[in-house]
Amino acid sequence: MSNFVIAVGHTASGNTGCGVVSRLDESNCTREIGALVAQYLEEKGHVVNLLRVDESNSYKYKDCYIRANKANDIAKNSNVELYVEIHINAGGGTGPEVCVTGKSALANQYATKVSNSLATSLNLTNRGVKIQSFIVLNKTSMPAILVECLFADSSDADKYDAEIIARAIVNGLVGIENSSDNVLKLGWNKNNIGWWYCTDVTNKYYYTSQNDWKNIDGDWYIFDSNGYALESAWYYDSSDKFWYYLDHSCKMVRGTKDKPLWLWIDSGCYSFNEHGQMHCNCVTLDGYRVDESGAWVK
Ligand SMILES: [Zn+2]
Repeated sequence: MSNFVIAVGHTASGNTGCGVVSRLDESNCTREIGALVAQYLEEKGHVVNLLRVDESNSYKYKDCYIRANKANDIAKNSNVELYVEIHINAGGGTGPEVCVTGKSALANQYATKVSNSLATSLNLTNRGVKIQSFIVLNKTSMPAILVECLFADSSDADKYDAEIIARAIVNGLVGIENSSDNVLKLGWNKNNIGWWYCTDVTNKYYYTSQNDWKNIDGDWYIFDSNGYALESAWYYDSSDKFWYYLDHSCKMVRGTKDKPLWLWIDSGCYSFNEHGQMHCNCVTLDGYRVDESGAWVK
């Protein structure tokens, strides 16, 4: 069972600049959703630290620092899996998005799943994972995600339902066995969070991170601790000390013997050899320099 910090974003209720107040009041919505997320996770046996900092003065991001410090204190004494902060978006768009620093592969995986899950449950466009430099994401010592559930100032607001949103977040955070829409079939299965691969229906056996790389119909896949195939995600293989990338169909990207495969991921261009290993700090077969992070040096 995992240990989560669930943080309630923008709780300075009633103050100007305390977060979005439009068709929805962010500070009340996040309180409502946060409490339910904590409750549902606890019902599934997880440990939850609910952080709600009510700042009553003019808003100067002070609560972001307080939440980050409190989370870091908790992490000193327990092994926190993930920091999850809940917000409501504004600016007239539509659909959920989940923000990360981009530095934690684990946070990226959770972010993908939570965003997928929210978009499906609310039947809204999935804005997906965004790299953002937010105070609270930068200051927390553990992998962290910031969930913008939906927009307060668009037609999204009509879809606001704290229970549906909280269930969707919890489904994104915890595993297949906990998801309700689960009819297992042999081979690939999909729910609103991601793909997994069942090898034994009777005993509900499926690949997880225990199983290492799996070659299925000629392509390589890797699974997380909950059994989901990594999707649009980086993976660092500590046994061979190489970075790999799993594309939107969960397949390991690979070049050929004579030519690396180049791929734009976020803001960098990266190359992979025929085994899927990312090149770093070298000149590639086709003559381009990549730095120690693997990014192409222009
Ligand atoms: Zn906010």
